[in-house]
Amino acid sequence: MLARTEAEQLVSTVPTEPYIAGRWDSSHSVDTFDVIDPVTERRLTTVAAAGAHEVDEAVSHARSALDEGVWGRTDGSGRARLLNHLADLIEARSEEFATLESLDIGKPGFEPRAIDLPQTIQAFRYFAGWADKVEGRSIPTSPYMGRPTHSYTVREPVGVVAAITPWNSPTMIGAWKIAPALAAGCAVVLKPPEDAPLTSLLLASLVEEAGFPAGAFSVLPGRGAVTGHLLADHPGVDKISFTGSPETGYKVAVAAAKGFRRTTLELGGKSPQIVFEDADLDEAARGVAVGIFANQGEVCAAGSRILVARSVYDEFVERLVACARDIKVGDPFDEGTTMGALINARQLERVSEYITAGTDDGARLITGGGRPYSKGFFVEPTLFAEVDNSMTIARREIFGPVGAIISFDAESDAVAIANDSEYALAATLWTSDVSRAHVVARRVRAGAVAINGWAPLDPRLPWGGSKLSGQGRELGWAGIEANTEEKTVTAVLSYSPAK
Ligand code: NAD
Repeated sequence: MLARTEAEQLVSTVPTEPYIAGRWDSSHSVDTFDVIDPVTERRLTTVAAAGAHEVDEAVSHARSALDEGVWGRTDGSGRARLLNHLADLIEARSEEFATLESLDIGKPGFEPRAIDLPQTIQAFRYFAGWADKVEGRSIPTSPYMGRPTHSYTVREPVGVVAAITPWNSPTMIGAWKIAPALAAGCAVVLKPPEDAPLTSLLLASLVEEAGFPAGAFSVLPGRGAVTGHLLADHPGVDKISFTGSPETGYKVAVAAAKGFRRTTLELGGKSPQIVFEDADLDEAARGVAVGIFANQGEVCAAGSRILVARSVYDEFVERLVACARDIKVGDPFDEGTTMGALINARQLERVSEYITAGTDDGARLITGGGRPYSKGFFVEPTLFAEVDNSMTIARREIFGPVGAIISFDAESDAVAIANDSEYALAATLWTSDVSRAHVVARRVRAGAVAINGWAPLDPRLPWGGSKLSGQGRELGWAGIEANTEEKTVTAVLSYSPAK
């Protein structure tokens, strides 16, 4: 891992302009934004923001790439080759990506190396595998006016896909959108998060090096309310693949509804982690701690509601508190750091307000709750006990390292509490009873349920939620379906067999 000073020098090698149809161009940009290091609170770089001109250009080049360009004529095996080449290029420079991800977001160095980058590379390779397997079906149909018919379906690229990503894991979540869309033959316009745009800009230079034809992929850095809004609202965009907050997801859905354009919305969560009395409590405590404290709790699937069987409550909570106190909060570039800083001052304020609300509502703060350093957007790993599911800290997504511990008596109570939420993204179950695990997995309302391990990631598994957690699925075959339109072709045959 690079030292902090070397990492900061790396930033100067990253392009800081919109990338449109194979060109880096800020000549029409009228706005810029600063990228701030969450640890030092210093400016890392300044990026030219894309405005209406760039959005128009990127969308129209994407359309031309599909209709008249080389990209539209690149078949599945050609797309697979390009995606595999891109995966190799990312792998060769994964240290740079991981370093920039730590610097930009404040996450400890081991996380991008163990999770974000391997998952990114795997997603590109996995979808390269689908690119030449996007098949239709042959469907037997009735004769038409006495003549035989031949019917089949084909899956065609949905068209121009706008991918809008959040700051918590922009490289990996970007790959989850870009890889299936390119595999399906769509052209992609990426709007990375203004708080953490660096790896998306680096990615654009590798897309170019991989040999993707101009217009297949563009990147438009900029603020959400300006660039994001212009892109989501653009009539030339056929599909919006969005990950972010429910509030912004709603705006995106309204913009898309104007043209009945397709969306995939991956929004927030308030996911339960249920610890049954028959769980291995040591293992469960370690797993639950990862579930709420990984990536500073800035994870859509964070297991922020920790439901514990009353008969093991004290034993479990003691173990979980020990895990929380073992976490070393600090500079991601310092040896031994296991939790970094929150993304920005606004997020620190928001998390601090929720911690105050927890105490005000009568929950018992059992560890953390403070700022370990006066500089940087750090907050301690925090746990509240004696939480009632109606309290603010059990209802609202905090998006920080704050766990709310709730006790339950019967299995049915655990399921009822788990499902009593506006969100339905993920759930984790800790039990040694295999049958119980599968029965409860069916009863919990969530897009993904993990048993005895927190949210194992794999691009083969569909990902998404319902209720305020969003709609649609990314990854797996669902990722291809989400980026294709199914067309039906029926031929009325004039041929009649010789008498
Ligand atoms: P956000 O909604 O503020 O921003 C997400 C993206 O949308 C950013 O790129 C932003 O610039 C853009 N944006 C903002 N306003 C826009 C507008 N009016 N039109 C179009 N785009 C706009 O979310 P965030 O703060 O970056 O991320 C945190 C949220 O994302 C949390 O709620 C979290 O749960 C959610 N999230 C969900 C998943 C998932 O897979 N379900 C994954 C990660 C994060």
